[in-house]
Amino acid sequence: MAAAALSRFTPFAITLVESEAIGTVGVGEATIPQIRLFNAALGIDEGEFLRETKGSYKLGIEFAGWAGEGARYMHAFGPTGHAHGILPFHQYWTQAHLAGRAEAFGAYSLNAVAAYALKMQPDRSGAPGPMPYAFHFDAGLYAAYLRRRAEAGGVTRLEGIVAQVNRADAGERITSITLADGRTVAGDFFIDCSGFRSLLMEALAPGEFADWSGWLPCDRAWAVPCATSGDFTPYTRSTARPAGWQWRIPLQHRIGNGHVFCSRFMDEEDARTILLANLDARRDAEPRLLRFTTGTRARHWVGNCVALGLAAGFMEPLESTSIHLVQSSIARFLQMLPGQLAEPALAAEFNRQAAFEWSRIRDFLILHYWANGREGEPFWDACRRMELPDTLASKLDTWRATGFLHREHEELFTVEGWSQVLIGQGVIPGAVNPATRELAGDQLSAMLTAITQRNQRAAAAMPLHLAALRAAVAPPELRKTA
Ligand SMILES: Cc1cc2nc3c(=O)[nH]c(=O)nc-3n(C[C@H](O)[C@H](O)[C@H](O)COP(=O)(O)OP(=O)(O)OC[C@H]3O[C@@H](n4cnc5c(N)ncnc54)[C@H](O)[C@@H]3O)c2cc1C
Repeated sequence: MAAAALSRFTPFAITLVESEAIGTVGVGEATIPQIRLFNAALGIDEGEFLRETKGSYKLGIEFAGWAGEGARYMHAFGPTGHAHGILPFHQYWTQAHLAGRAEAFGAYSLNAVAAYALKMQPDRSGAPGPMPYAFHFDAGLYAAYLRRRAEAGGVTRLEGIVAQVNRADAGERITSITLADGRTVAGDFFIDCSGFRSLLMEALAPGEFADWSGWLPCDRAWAVPCATSGDFTPYTRSTARPAGWQWRIPLQHRIGNGHVFCSRFMDEEDARTILLANLDARRDAEPRLLRFTTGTRARHWVGNCVALGLAAGFMEPLESTSIHLVQSSIARFLQMLPGQLAEPALAAEFNRQAAFEWSRIRDFLILHYWANGREGEPFWDACRRMELPDTLASKLDTWRATGFLHREHEELFTVEGWSQVLIGQGVIPGAVNPATRELAGDQLSAMLTAITQRNQRAAAAMPLHLAALRAAVAPPELRKTA
């Protein structure tokens, strides 16, 4: 992603060093709608992208069992209902809910209604429509596709293993890297995309890592693909398990599955058994175990090096944010592009913004665990009892008082996202803003009914996900005659 974007937008000579012997982490299949902006900026055609990456559409994430066994809700992209007067929709919904007159919150989200009906309407014009969407895709195929584009754009790719990081005066400036075969690659600026190893950053700032596993205690994942079967859902499913959760991500050629769990509460063999017992069809490969520590590097930009992806830190894929964080750091870096010398002021601002972005996503993920309804299971009981970061605790206080939610600065998740997870997991405000009284009972009921009817009509008119995808991946000449 970095090589493809930098070669498109900067005049610099770029060298990409990768090692097929080491390989990539090999997971990462679900995204959020911002990925469409990244692809569009690179001039990527959506149909070609879906064809190349064997992708599918994604309208949101279903959370099954998080609010209690059998309960489910969707964090769907896009709006739920619509604002009225000065207040957001969730205030009116809460008023109606407290009076026993509202349907489930998701009934007012077009994305959720369409997703559960297995429907999908892509934006034909290329402009964002009323239904924001993202993709599921094979991240390995995406990387290969971007590599081809980057090389076509002038990037030089070297196959080799980085054996040494050479610094000027042992300070915070890298002059070159030495490969295992003795070659040296010099550069003005370096981007560390070396995955969990954080090779370059560890040489510059060893051990500078903020460990968040006290709040997000899952530290292992088994991942396994299985054959395509069951509903071809235009959404990711996250199902709560006794000490973690399982993902289900349908692609064109397989379903991606994984079980994220906490090793303090479940051993690896039990976690593997649970995953394999809950697949839609026969597995396509041996399950792979990944071990991780949730957290982030204290500084993502040090001297003349920026860390991206797993080299910058890791938060579990509960809200599909890792690939987005790569994209967002690339965009931030391009905005602040240094000249010949990396300016400390740019690095400081970059790090301030990254720290804010990561910590607010962390809070959003913690909310899912803290607000669980799985009483009697030791892992989930411990999650409900955890001490929250101040930023999250104060957000919950204002929400519970009157349903007030505020999106601070460029926080990734909006009021729409927070309200769906809060309500979906049963954290309902005890009272609403008195200004909701502007809509009398009958008017409120009429507004709610109109929204649900409109959503159902709109979803009924859409093609099935599979049909929409088939039309999108067909070669362009076929699309014109279809
Ligand atoms: C269990 C799990 C599930 C995930 N699910 C999602 C998801 O659904 N959505 C999402 O957005 N993200 C997800 N992620 C995160 C996602 O996988 C990563 O953000 C993404 O793949 C980017 O990884 P990366 O490029 O930083 O690291 P890697 O894929 O590990 O790539 C590192 C690269 O560095 C190279 N390298 C390493 N050491 C050397 C060396 N010494 N010399 C030369 N080259 C070297 C490797 O060859 C490789 O090319 C998930 C992660 C995990 C662990």
